[in-house]
Amino acid sequence: MPHPYAPNFTVITNWKAKGFACSKVCSYCNWRQSPLLPHGLQSNEAILSFIRQCTKSFITISGGGDPLYRLEENFPALRHLCDLIHGEGFRVRIITREVGQLHRLTGLADYVSLSLDADVLRWGTGKLENWETGILETAQEPNFHRGAGNLEFWETGKLASYEGPDLEFSLVLPPLPMPDLLRLKPQYAALRQQLGTRLVLRENFNSIFPFDPEAMSFGHKGIVVVPKSVCLNSRYLATIDCTGHEIVQDHAPLASYLMNHSSVYLFGGFVKHIIAPAVHLDYADIDVIAIDADVIEKLGSTYGYRFTEQSNKGDYPRYFQGKSTKAGKPIQLLLMNSHEDARNFIFNAQYDIDRVGYHQGLIIDPLMNLQEIKKAITLKQARLLNGPRQLDLFHPQRMRIEQKHKAKLLAKGFTIAA
Ligand code: SF4
Repeated sequence: MPHPYAPNFTVITNWKAKGFACSKVCSYCNWRQSPLLPHGLQSNEAILSFIRQCTKSFITISGGGDPLYRLEENFPALRHLCDLIHGEGFRVRIITREVGQLHRLTGLADYVSLSLDADVLRWGTGKLENWETGILETAQEPNFHRGAGNLEFWETGKLASYEGPDLEFSLVLPPLPMPDLLRLKPQYAALRQQLGTRLVLRENFNSIFPFDPEAMSFGHKGIVVVPKSVCLNSRYLATIDCTGHEIVQDHAPLASYLMNHSSVYLFGGFVKHIIAPAVHLDYADIDVIAIDADVIEKLGSTYGYRFTEQSNKGDYPRYFQGKSTKAGKPIQLLLMNSHEDARNFIFNAQYDIDRVGYHQGLIIDPLMNLQEIKKAITLKQARLLNGPRQLDLFHPQRMRIEQKHKAKLLAKGFTIAA
């Protein structure tokens, strides 16, 4: 009998010899940039020596890229992988989003986990009564969005006649604080009822908030809550044989390190996410100002970041682009000499909503009112500040950067008042 806490074993696929073999663009997916992502099928030797270490009865095949991506081209590679796994006496479990290909898995996989798109749930549009907390208290009433994403397929009844491998559905939880997640529970219960089969809820690796699996659990096996620790302690065959800790960035400890460090200032989209996570649900990257070069060293040694300097010799401040060897959010880092410069940099931004930073707590331009800025961020209302600005700390291309920033804000639904 395998130990009940024995790790799961997963073979990561990415069928493209170059690029990323997935037709989806999930906001929480950081695999696209991972240097550990394989390209094409791993060797027989690597696969066999990996799966022979597994003490469970099944091996999972998962992305990286989706295992069922362009199945007409990649079917031989997938079948070969399944044959190798079956040949060693294991069952095959496949995680996919390609709902249209499920019928081809009969005889190939024993279990299928179909990932649902996040848009099967919908944020409501309640009044923003409690913006002070940064959380839209009334905006997330149970509001199951029928007909969205993969569910459309379900509702056409095509899956009603499904006779393939054992099927479950899974969803990655949004990166929200626990009170917000708890408010979504009725939606998940309704979703599970509609699906009529097991629903797996996965903790989000991009979440920076503490997670309580007990509080999130439903007390029955129809909805299973999987905390990230299960994945972090699992084993993966990517380009290397590794554990989840080595291959996936857990953003909660990373955020905690940055938010509590006395030499670190955070700004940009990450701070908007801290202030109003339900509105600014995701952050594309993390903007950091460090006053101490040791921060770069620690981000490398503990969190797997490799930094490339973007600035020229003698430039001040120095600009670095950090990519994690684990699938994780990129970091843009400015190295500065003083706290005063860090504050001046943040407090001279073009819009009021950007004059807020995080340095062991929220900091705000002394000319601004924190509650008003939090409200503006929550309501996505930016105001252009026309007064004189200190520009000497900014990048020489700052005007171009600000134009791009404006376009991004508009794309995210901000209104901009002059
Ligand atoms: S999470 Fe899966 S389906 Fe989404 S982009 Fe990443 S690999 Fe593709």
